[in-house]
Amino acid sequence: MSMNAAVLHGIDDLSLTRVPVPEPGPGEVLLKVEANTICGTDLRIVSGAKTAGVRPGVILGHEFAGRVAAVGEGVEGVDVGVQATCSIVLSCGRCLQCLAGREHLCENLRLFGYEIDGGLAEYLLVPREAMERGNLVLAPRELEPTALALAEPVSCCLNGARQFRVSPGEAVVVLGTGPIGLLHVALAKLAGATRIVAVGRPGRLDPALALGATHALASQGEKLTREILDATGGGADVAIVAVGDPALANQALEVAAVGGRVNYFAGFPKGSTAVTEPNIVHYRELQVTGGSNARRADVRRAVELLSSGALDVGSLVTHRFPLTQIDAAIAAVRERAGLKVAVVPD
Ligand SMILES: [Zn+2]
Ligand SMILES: [Zn+2]
Repeated sequence: MSMNAAVLHGIDDLSLTRVPVPEPGPGEVLLKVEANTICGTDLRIVSGAKTAGVRPGVILGHEFAGRVAAVGEGVEGVDVGVQATCSIVLSCGRCLQCLAGREHLCENLRLFGYEIDGGLAEYLLVPREAMERGNLVLAPRELEPTALALAEPVSCCLNGARQFRVSPGEAVVVLGTGPIGLLHVALAKLAGATRIVAVGRPGRLDPALALGATHALASQGEKLTREILDATGGGADVAIVAVGDPALANQALEVAAVGGRVNYFAGFPKGSTAVTEPNIVHYRELQVTGGSNARRADVRRAVELLSSGALDVGSLVTHRFPLTQIDAAIAAVRERAGLKVAVVPD
């Protein structure tokens, strides 16, 4: 049996290819893919801007939702027909970062959609190692596959959120209103923030307001800083940089309140630098953190948030393409045609 898959043959060479349907060996699980949402990182992988951990010949796609199609010998507690997704981080469990509880920063990590075949295919194999590490996450309730696929970006936001911990009644500013920024807006609301300021392009402000932003701003520079200070009542308890613009590194400090937490959540262009005013961190006693990838526990919590309906972000998926139109799907992401683009196997 063969299937369609979006295979990354090389830089700028992603194409629909017939490949064999994987057969689950002992300890393995085969998922029938029901949706795979595409993120900016996928574009960076295709264009060659991101090469670390990327294996030529890999099936792309790291935001996927599927249904258990077959289980290998010895797999217990996984029923055929159940909806599922995966933590995409396969960590080694033995390196210093794993032992220190930072499995998502594992020194030997391998990622689905980078090295391990991902979700832009009709089927996805969850390898034995990933099964043994508990990477498979079953959905406790049925939900829209395109929403379940968002468990991956949501889990990354939860990992970031662990660093800045929004408390009820706090003021949060999210710089950037791409899908990640919008997820941070929704999570800030869920965490009890009462002032949530979203900053981004004019076309993205309505979605931010719909997901819980109390203020939506499209200005820039000093004017923006003044407007944020106004909207937050003197500064944000939490400032999240959700777009990889180095100029925002200092602006996030400028809009933070005394004792505030600033998080550089977005990845910035490789090698980029930023000028910041360190005295802001010094005098305001700010905490500056980062965030990359997610732990298995974050993925479980993301699935729980999505399937319970507590986090309703399905509206982020604005475009759907069949797998056979993978080129059009990638182009739609590149042209920022909508918020989130989903690929659904035919
Ligand atoms: Zn992603
Ligand atoms: Zn490790």
